[in-house]
Amino acid sequence: RPRVGVLALQGDVSEHLDYFRRAGAAVRPVRVPLDLEGLEGLVLPGGESTAIGRLMERAGLLAAVAERSRRGDLALFGTCAGLILLARQVEGGQPPRLGLLDLAVVRNGYGRQVDSFEADLEVPALGDAPVRALFIRAPVVESTGAGVEVLARFRGRPVLVRQGRCMASTFHPELGEDLRVARLFLSLLAA
Ligand code: GLN
Repeated sequence: RPRVGVLALQGDVSEHLDYFRRAGAAVRPVRVPLDLEGLEGLVLPGGESTAIGRLMERAGLLAAVAERSRRGDLALFGTCAGLILLARQVEGGQPPRLGLLDLAVVRNGYGRQVDSFEADLEVPALGDAPVRALFIRAPVVESTGAGVEVLARFRGRPVLVRQGRCMASTFHPELGEDLRVARLFLSLLAA
């Protein structure tokens, strides 16, 4: 089974552990760089990106994860706040972050008053059935670099993206029953 860590500093950690376990991974919480040992993938959960980024920095995890990713032996998945931590450019507060995904994002870009909403997304890479997506104080992806593959859009804006072995969504796949997003990520680990 693929070995996947879930960054366990703040946010919806247990939901992500459960989601990737249901999708077939051997999961483990990650709190310090030593926890990365032997992992093939790391998930950055939803939550508050400033809090998570600061805690990652303090734990030495920004440097350790960036190093593993550069070596090409750690695939990354970011959900919502996790996508913000992966984004190269962020507007609306600058959390310490990895900046490995060539995205420009606006935090809470659907408006602070828009707390959450659901939508059916067409995701050709996942087959014909739409993905029911839950957005919670989601960031808006304003632009993507040439190396970024857009796997789904909502109202024209990218909401599921991939660049090499790095994947991220502005919605919360872990809060539904649909395991296809997790399985697509796990397929990157095998590649
Ligand atoms: N609004 C949060 C942030 O900017 C992200 C929300 C989420 O992860 N659901 O960090």
